[in-house]
Amino acid sequence: MSWRSGGRLRWAAVPFALVGLLGAPVGAGAAAGTRAPVEQVADQVVEQTVEPTEEGALVPSYEAGLTPEDQKVRTFLAQNAVLEDIAAYASERIVLPQDIPLRATSCGQANAFWDPAAQDITLCYEYLEVLAPLLAAEQSEGTAQERSEQLDQDLIGETNDTVLHELGHALVNLYDLPVVGKEEDAADQLSALLLASGDERHVGYALSTITAYRALANAAARGEQPLKVYADEHSLDAQRFYNWVCWLYGSDPDKYATAVQSEKNPDGALPPERAMRCPGEFLQMEKSWSPALKPYLKT
Ligand SMILES: [Zn+2]
Repeated sequence: MSWRSGGRLRWAAVPFALVGLLGAPVGAGAAAGTRAPVEQVADQVVEQTVEPTEEGALVPSYEAGLTPEDQKVRTFLAQNAVLEDIAAYASERIVLPQDIPLRATSCGQANAFWDPAAQDITLCYEYLEVLAPLLAAEQSEGTAQERSEQLDQDLIGETNDTVLHELGHALVNLYDLPVVGKEEDAADQLSALLLASGDERHVGYALSTITAYRALANAAARGEQPLKVYADEHSLDAQRFYNWVCWLYGSDPDKYATAVQSEKNPDGALPPERAMRCPGEFLQMEKSWSPALKPYLKT
């Protein structure tokens, strides 16, 4: 089982607005060592046995949107078969203990969540509605057509991350996996491991995820709080941005060397003092997820 692979590089320069946030303790999320309350699995779920021959899968559905904007997101996701693609990728990599409904729906808030009682994953159309203009604001290069295609790609990439993050919660919950540190960070790590070790397309989704967290962090730096509810229990978007860059860099430091800031490479996203810890952080992620998931990993 290897979590390492690679793909084409597409760093965007770190905007100046983020520099002010560098003063925050880098990697505080991982270093804090606090354990967030883990939503406990109901007894009957723990007792379920995993039948290798009766494998589960993510089961996508696109519910009718309650607003024209929601409907537009629904069409975008459905026409691109985004959730089906994520479900296929998850099944390629991990044995799921049961079918897990993956519902795209109108929620009345920009959110995504694993519901331990219903045992399903919900992706709110509003999440992509909030994200789209923020991602568009990050773009400065290319023709209108190219920017439009990149925006679609980034929305699909961050949707992959969001669903895989929620799948991380689902796996912790359903398999009763031990979590070291914050479960939110562990869920981010699973998503990063799955995307960074995928083919070029999935590595591209990892890069889109980095772009998305940068966009969210920039919005926060401007005093906006686009994801008030969603951001609650998670590390700050700026922390998630640096974590993701760090993890991808840490997965292959030679390949992603341009991620590191230096005099010759001022656009690098990672301060050198964080970068030097990243290969170790990635190794730690592999060590914490791999044994726990080992019985359920396919590739
Ligand atoms: Zn979460």
